[in-house]
Amino acid sequence: MNVCVIGTGFVGVVSAAVFSSFGNSVTGLDIDPAKIEKLKEGIVPFYEPGLKHLLIEQQSHGTLRFTTDYKDAISNAEVIIVAVGTPSSKEGKVELKYVHSAAQSLAPFIQKGAIIVIKSTVPPGTLDTFQKIVEQYSSHIDFHMASVPEFLREGTAVEDILHPDRVVIGASEEIIFDKLITLHAPLNAPVVKLSPESAQMSKYAANAYLATRITFINQLADLCEHNGADIKDVIHAMGFDKRIGHHYWYPGLGYGGSCFPKDVKELAAYSRSVGLNDNLLNHLDRFNEERIPKFLKKYGETVGGWKGKKVAILGLAFKPHTDDMRDAPSIKVIPWLLEQGATVTGFDPKSLEAVPYFIKQHPHATYTDDLSAAVKDADVMMILIEWPEIIKYDFSMVRIKNKKQWIIDTRNQLDQQVIIAAGYDYVGVGR
Ligand code: NAD
Repeated sequence: MNVCVIGTGFVGVVSAAVFSSFGNSVTGLDIDPAKIEKLKEGIVPFYEPGLKHLLIEQQSHGTLRFTTDYKDAISNAEVIIVAVGTPSSKEGKVELKYVHSAAQSLAPFIQKGAIIVIKSTVPPGTLDTFQKIVEQYSSHIDFHMASVPEFLREGTAVEDILHPDRVVIGASEEIIFDKLITLHAPLNAPVVKLSPESAQMSKYAANAYLATRITFINQLADLCEHNGADIKDVIHAMGFDKRIGHHYWYPGLGYGGSCFPKDVKELAAYSRSVGLNDNLLNHLDRFNEERIPKFLKKYGETVGGWKGKKVAILGLAFKPHTDDMRDAPSIKVIPWLLEQGATVTGFDPKSLEAVPYFIKQHPHATYTDDLSAAVKDADVMMILIEWPEIIKYDFSMVRIKNKKQWIIDTRNQLDQQVIIAAGYDYVGVGR
């Protein structure tokens, strides 16, 4: 099939590379010429394990190319996958301006019978608006629409897209289901056929549920800090219940990243717009927003105030194996500490491309991809992200005798007995 993927961000590039590896002829299209130039040269503009190899391989086979030219990309496309960003507005509502502008740009060139697949996370109702825009700017109305939300996780995106738990297809015509099932057949995954609205809602539901799970375990962890229980042990015991399970429990500083915060905000904003103000969704976001300041205050008391403290911030991206900084905890933590008078060194093995952002925003901190340099002489080492480099690091090597030093492990990843035996004061979450 001839496929065009509009938007070559995290989802778009991975989708384009994977669909071309299934023998389709794929064109990746973006309005950002710098990004497209990099992709043409086989350079992935962000860090995602395994993607560069796949990209170069498909480009060398001639089945994957990139362009900024809508006419060139759309004219022959049988399937057009829209994977542009859908960020939050200030009020928490999803911004659909990139989706709508893609509709307007593709409309003049769409071939008869083409299927437009919205892969971006969008609320129910978006397909209708999209269709109206295309109809307004196209010379014909012989095209189809579907919604195929994406569930990949950054850091494991290639693996996730190749081995999805399910492929959710939202459409209203059997012929569209058939064509999209054929496109996704090499994935060998269960296919869930739904209405477009249910498909879109299922994506928001999944992210809101996972954000709820994180918030729930954080609140239990807070209780454990008062009653002597250890949240790790509580999770272990609770997880044997088959209805609950051991997976996906992450007590810490709350959820971040490019999806959970914005998707929870959108669902909450939508619930308010239909008069459902007093529901869980409307409280989740507040709990999450309040968590980092609350913990920084608490940690400040533990270490005897931040003023004059040398603090190593370990992990700048929003999670391991990515350099994505969207809603990363470091973005909140670093300015807070600087404001309190701490000296801050930030470490991340892969996010140094993001450092210009930090240097511009917070020129008084320093940044490095050398972990030993970051922690040297530090009073406080604060683990924000569980990069393997950080959690496997031998902190005893940099312990300074007779100096009070703290390790704040916001991911509960280190063996606290080992850290204490090395002479540090250990602080976890819910322990
Ligand atoms: P991104 O911000 O990394 O990339 C979006 C790309 O779209 C950018 O390169 C931008 O230049 C391009 N773009 C914007 N407007 C355009 C237009 N009119 N024409 C062509 N290109 C345009 O976004 P992302 O993280 O890949 O997310 C894309 C969508 O997928 C979002 O709706 C997101 O919620 C959803 N999603 C993301 C993830 C994830 O982990 N990142 C996972 C599942 C779903």
